[in-house]
Formats: sequence, C-alpha cells, structure tokens
Amino acid sequence: MHYYSLNKQAPDSNFETAVRKGLAPDRGLYFPERITPLHASFFDRIDELSNSEIAFRAIQQFVGEEIPENELKTIVDETLNFDFPVVGITNNISTLELFHGPTMAFKDVGARFMARCLGYFNRNNDAEVTVLVATSGDTGGAVASGFLGVKGVRVVILYPSGKVSNVQEKQLTTLGQNITALEIDGTFDDCQDMVKKAFLDTDLTSKLELTSANSINVARWLPQMFYFMFAYKALKSQNKSLVFSIPSGNFGNICAGMVAQKLGFPIAHFIAANNANNVVTRYLKTNSYDPQPSVQTISNAMDVGNPSNFIRIQALHDHNIGQLKSNLSSFSFSDDQTKTALSEIYSTSGYIADPHGAVGYLGAKAYLSNQPNAHVVFLETAHPTKFLDVVEDVIPEKIELPPQIKAVIDKEKQATFVKNYEEFKSFMMKF
Ligand SMILES: *Cc1c(COP(=O)(O)O)cnc(C)c1O
Repeated sequence: MHYYSLNKQAPDSNFETAVRKGLAPDRGLYFPERITPLHASFFDRIDELSNSEIAFRAIQQFVGEEIPENELKTIVDETLNFDFPVVGITNNISTLELFHGPTMAFKDVGARFMARCLGYFNRNNDAEVTVLVATSGDTGGAVASGFLGVKGVRVVILYPSGKVSNVQEKQLTTLGQNITALEIDGTFDDCQDMVKKAFLDTDLTSKLELTSANSINVARWLPQMFYFMFAYKALKSQNKSLVFSIPSGNFGNICAGMVAQKLGFPIAHFIAANNANNVVTRYLKTNSYDPQPSVQTISNAMDVGNPSNFIRIQALHDHNIGQLKSNLSSFSFSDDQTKTALSEIYSTSGYIADPHGAVGYLGAKAYLSNQPNAHVVFLETAHPTKFLDVVEDVIPEKIELPPQIKAVIDKEKQATFVKNYEEFKSFMMKF
C-alpha cells in the first residue's frame, strides 16, 4: 500500500517507511492512497468470523505484501488477545469497553500492533529504532507495555513530573529492559516540545533512527478501526441505525472509525464528544478552525488544543465541510457535567464509567435528543480505576483494583529526572 503525505511535499512511501518514520519528511501525516470497501460477502458472514479474522481482513490492504499473510495473522492475534464487550446502559445507549488490555487503556491495541510490525521489520537487521513518546498519562503505559522486549526497538518515554497518576507512573517506570522513562521537570506540553525538537535536531537524527508512537503513526492509528467493527458485529442483530460517540482528544480513534465506515461498515453517524478543549465543536458551529492552548480537565487524556488527526478527518471527507457535517456532530461538556454524568450512569444502570466514557455518554444523550430512533454506542476508553480520585469522589462504592493494576502498584519506580532540553539531549547522545 502507498501512503502519501497530507502536506503533499514529500514522496509517497510504503507501509514500512510510514511506520518507521511516523511523520513524512515534509512534517505531514501519512494517509493511505486508497481505501477499498470490503466485499459484501464479508458483511453477510461477519457473525461467523472471530475478532482476529475480522481485523485481519480489515487491515490487510493497508499493509499489502509487506508483511506475509501468516505473519500478519499472528500480529493481529497477539494484538487482540483480550475482550471488547458491548454493555447496555439504557435501551438506546450502549458502551463498548476498550479497557481490557494489559494497561487498561484503549491505546493498548494500537501500541501492540505497531510494536509487532516494527519487530517484524527489524527481524533481520541489527539497526535500532528509538521510539520517542511524550505522555500525559495513558499513552506512556500502553507504549511501554506494547513495546516491552521487542527486538531492535528502544523506547524513551517523557512524562511530566508530578502530573500523572500514581498508577500511570508505575505503569511506565517499572518495566525496565528496552523501556526508559524520563521524568521531565515541566508540563505535558514541555515533554511534547522536547520530542518535537529532537526530531528536528540533526545531532540526534544523524545518530539515532527516531520514530514516534502516537496516533500520527499509521500503525497506531489504523488498528483502532477494529473497535467499531467488533461493536457492529455485536449489535448487528438489533437492526438499528448505529451511531458512535467517541471521547476525543487527538481524534485518532474517531478518525479510525471513519476508515471502518469507508471500508463499508454501516455506521450512520459519528459524535466527537469533547471536554472544554473543543476546537472541533466550535469549528462545526462557526466554520472557523481556531486552535487554543489546552486547558486541564478531569478527562485529561482529551486535553488537546489542536488535534493532530483532524487533518485526516478532513481528507476522509474530501476537505468539504458540508460533507463532514453530515457525518459528524460534536458537543463539548464541562467537568461538572461530566461528574453529574458519572453519577447518573451509576444510578440508572449501576455502571461505573470513567470520566472520558462519561463525556462520551453525554455526547450520546445530546445526539439522541434530536434523533431518538438511533442506537448510540459510546466508547469506554479507560478503566475507572485509572482515574480513581475523580470516580470515587462521585460514586458511593469502593472500586476493586483489577489484577493488571495490582501487579504494578508495588513495583519500584525507575526514572531519570531531566530538567531541560540540553539535559535530555545529552542523555540521548550517550544512549
Ligand atoms: C487517548 C485517550 C483518549 C483520546 O483519544 P484520541 O484518539 O486521541 O482522540 C480518550 N480517552 C482516553 C482514556 C485516552 O487515553
């Protein structure tokens, strides 16, 4: 499969190069040259297919011949070795739980898939790829776990000191092996700035092959389309118009859902559920795209001022705002509304959501007030114990720690404290 840069100033690349580089040389995001809908017989028979079989069929055209069929099947099997249950909340709202992976964040799927693809591409060479990631919490743990022990890949995670939860910090600082954690004296934006600067620093790029592992990387972005397929399969027999409400930050997840729709999955509409960081909500209202610095909220994985994948969403809708508006609605909610939603979900159905899922639920309700006949699935993107302080503040119940969390909580943190870019650079130069 060929990928082109959405900045259109770089040569086309194949899948491997797009995965290795992350961003195209002109700093544009890679985008598949074409998306071919799956055959009607695939949809007729979907009930008989396992999650792995569905995922393999869906991803195959994006990888092409570059990974042999059997290898790709193994990669998909290993990526998806946990459940993706759909749970009913009301008679027209369900949730798709995406938190049953090793770090209990939906980013596990993309991280596991990307790590295994890089491992395959490195099978016969000794050159090392260095994956640099800045994290506000969840990405770091998912990437650390996904890439642990993968041949030819070293991972360096930058996280803001004192600004990630205890569970999140343990998940990214206790693994060892090929995973290195740097505790940055600054904010998430400072971490991200250091990563961006490193990619443009020729002293570093001439010494190390650097790549990123956030959703700009096609191998982390595309596998997220599987979720929408699994939910479709689970709800197909209900024969209702299917709408998804996606708690969105960088808009990688929702954009992958739109790829599933292009592949032929009958998804009627998408809802981008936002917290106060609402550049897309405003855009759909005013037709003017006006990014603002991010503000801190209780659904902090969505605290993104300028979502990097929005350009891909525009490309999927031919850069036509009318076409986009007919497929996408967006709503923005405050922290107070989010807490009220957590409590409402609990009192109506006994379900304990996390703050991100609660924003998704609010998006579903807002949409249903005008479209009462739809069935809306909101995505539960993290387990509630990852945001224990917020959830236990609202829900009158002690939440049992799941085994994945218990397993890391008493391990010893290992991180190098880094004050500024110069210290970071000298650390990397000695790597
Ligand atoms: C990353 C993340 C999101 C946002 O996903 P995007 O693909 O960046 O829009 C939502 N919820 C949680 C828990 C996350 O970790």
